[in-house]
Amino acid sequence: MNYGCDYVEYNLNDIVIMKKVHPCGSNNFEIIRLGADIKIKCTKCGRVIMLPRVEFNKKIKKVVKK
Ligand SMILES: [Zn+2]
Repeated sequence: MNYGCDYVEYNLNDIVIMKKVHPCGSNNFEIIRLGADIKIKCTKCGRVIMLPRVEFNKKIKKVVKK
């Protein structure tokens, strides 16, 4: 489904692909916290990244698994 713009729908525990690849070589992240800030965990190295929701919305590419 095409939502237009850069809008992507996501939920807690979804696996998402970010536009920028993590230094470890993976661009798959699991959403571990949803709020004003969003926490994602790299599925390869386990590192947690926290982003303001606005920034996360800009950096997310797509949801791969719900
Ligand atoms: Zn990583």
